Amino acid sequence: MISVADLPKAELHVHLEGAVEPDLLGELAPGLTPAEIDARYRYADFAGFIESFKWVTSFLRTPEDYARVARRLGQRLREQNVSYAEVILSAGVILWKKQDLPAVFRAAREAMGESGVEVCWIFDAVRQFGAGPAREAFEMAAALKQEGVVGIGLGGDESRGPAQWFREEFAWARAQGLRLSAHAGETTTAGSVWEALDIGAERIGHGIRAVHDPRLLAHLRDRDLPLEISISSNVATGAVRSLAAHPVRALFDAGVPLILNTDDPAMFHTTLNGEYELARRHFGFSDGELRQLAENSFRYRFTR
Ligand SMILES: [Zn+2]
Repeated sequence: MISVADLPKAELHVHLEGAVEPDLLGELAPGLTPAEIDARYRYADFAGFIESFKWVTSFLRTPEDYARVARRLGQRLREQNVSYAEVILSAGVILWKKQDLPAVFRAAREAMGESGVEVCWIFDAVRQFGAGPAREAFEMAAALKQEGVVGIGLGGDESRGPAQWFREEFAWARAQGLRLSAHAGETTTAGSVWEALDIGAERIGHGIRAVHDPRLLAHLRDRDLPLEISISSNVATGAVRSLAAHPVRALFDAGVPLILNTDDPAMFHTTLNGEYELARRHFGFSDGELRQLAENSFRYRFTR
């Protein structure tokens, strides 16, 4: 049996703000008690998780705060034999907080660099904020391309911000040489995945609802469009009813290219190695299949 820890891996879907470990949050916000933090790191549903994510992000007040989180994430990736990562920065939230996005980005980038892990960045816009703020986030991504931003994404509440709102902004970002990703089909329907693909998304965050649409499964397989799967995330937010109900095996068996990720490792109490172990123990992934997932994590990176 291969050791998951020894497998060379890349992490392509990890939010910096979701990597704030409880003890680090306690340091950033000394007024909070461990019990209070613990309660906020558990969710009744997806809306509850979004509330907690916002709450955690509210304590990231300075570029140095972001740097501390990035330093820790870099260490965690390195410990797990992750040599490459594409880290999502919630640019939309940082701009909404009226923070200095280039300063935050540069501080985080420098801190992650200390780990020796090769890191590229994806700037995420918030769907429910609409197209204007998304454009602003994508302009920042384009301006910082030379410093390691490789792509843009859409996050937030997919039920309150359809992909079509962002058609022009995605086309603009693509014209700047940025790669396109979007969270879709996480909590809504396969239709949301189609919509994200229709505006040009090259990788889909989650996309688990695709399992209900055979035509979409065939499309993802035939066009070689990968889903970024995060099993613990979907269980923790209630996007799936239970671990056993997660469609990772069905998606894999349908020939859809999959990448395993943590999404928000601290907030979902998981690690990348843990996600591979889940695939092995609960979904019967063989050594060869786990190797293929690890290879996919390099194959579908946005840089070569
Ligand atoms: Zn995500």
